[in-house]
Amino acid sequence: MKSIKNIAILGSTGSIGQNSLEVISIFPDRFRAIYLSANKGIDMLIQQVENFKPKGVSVMDTDSAEILKNRYGNSLEIFIGTDGLKEISVKPEVDVVINSLVGFAGLEPTIEAIKAGKTIALANKETLVVGGEIISHLIESHKVSLIPIDSEHSAIFQCLVGEDYSTISKLILTASGGPFLNLHKDKFKNVTIEEALNHPNWKMGNKITIDSATLMNKGLEVIEAHYLFKLPAEKIEVVIHPQSIIHSMVEFVDGSVKAQLGVPDMKIPIQYALTFPERLPSNSEKINFANLGQMTFFKPDLEKFECLKLAYRALNTGGTAPVILNAANEIAVEYFLSGKIKFTQIPELIESGLDDQPVIHNPSIERIIETDIMTRDYVKQRIERL
Ligand code: MN
Repeated sequence: MKSIKNIAILGSTGSIGQNSLEVISIFPDRFRAIYLSANKGIDMLIQQVENFKPKGVSVMDTDSAEILKNRYGNSLEIFIGTDGLKEISVKPEVDVVINSLVGFAGLEPTIEAIKAGKTIALANKETLVVGGEIISHLIESHKVSLIPIDSEHSAIFQCLVGEDYSTISKLILTASGGPFLNLHKDKFKNVTIEEALNHPNWKMGNKITIDSATLMNKGLEVIEAHYLFKLPAEKIEVVIHPQSIIHSMVEFVDGSVKAQLGVPDMKIPIQYALTFPERLPSNSEKINFANLGQMTFFKPDLEKFECLKLAYRALNTGGTAPVILNAANEIAVEYFLSGKIKFTQIPELIESGLDDQPVIHNPSIERIIETDIMTRDYVKQRIERL
């Protein structure tokens, strides 16, 4: 029998976190959720503690920590804030860290976990967008595995099992196109928060759902793919595939194309990341091809979805340009979600960030953090002046 893998989940109350716990619950003799963490959603975290009996949890504020302390006393280790996320990531008992945090916050815990030799199951794409180069070097020097959970990257990763990476001629990332695929660009400025949050195929958290509506999610994924699979921007293509059945493809030098297919269910890539290199049965729904009927594909409209174009621009610029792209996007999405800016201002703000903020090449982690903070301030000030 296999030994049990102890798993720390960063962001256990989010969509990926909940799906991860479902996967873990199917394989109690293989996986144990040993540390959990939540930002908001203390009630759900308590529910998860009851169900999964972790050794400890990390929460973002002292009030939540108090609630847990009163309830569990010394039977639960409690950690607080961003330091707490780092602490649970490096605990000696932890084998795998599932990073399902949202945004830039995912970077530092990933770095600490790699340094501590943990296997990383990565859902937080922003980690690679902002720190791709540093993370790649750390993975090599610490000889750890980083396995993608993002469905497109899991698809590519699965297509590449047994293949020599030097025989890849192109990666083809599929995109559902989001809720505004067929909406005329003139209508974009009046898009409501509710409309933007209504994704046709995937049920996800608010930030990534807005990113899917602007196609910035695909832009971030292009950058993520660049660092995971070491290919230049011109060899990473995006194709719209509204059915979200093919999760991505790899074209090889001989003209063969491999694709990974499945129903849109994040439990499939999560389970693969945890069981790799094995495959185990799952209770996820299977594709019924006869019912599916057809799969369609077409080119994304970069004039309509400017965020995708801006992501390619940031990747081609290199250095801290993706940090600027990401920080500007995080702030713009936050302000859109609070009703303070229009949907069309999201790409405008990102573009001015890329135009105005200085780019640093081969940045240290300190420079990356500095650029992130400066860009956030810049975008906030710009919104105030609007
Ligand atoms: Mn994805």
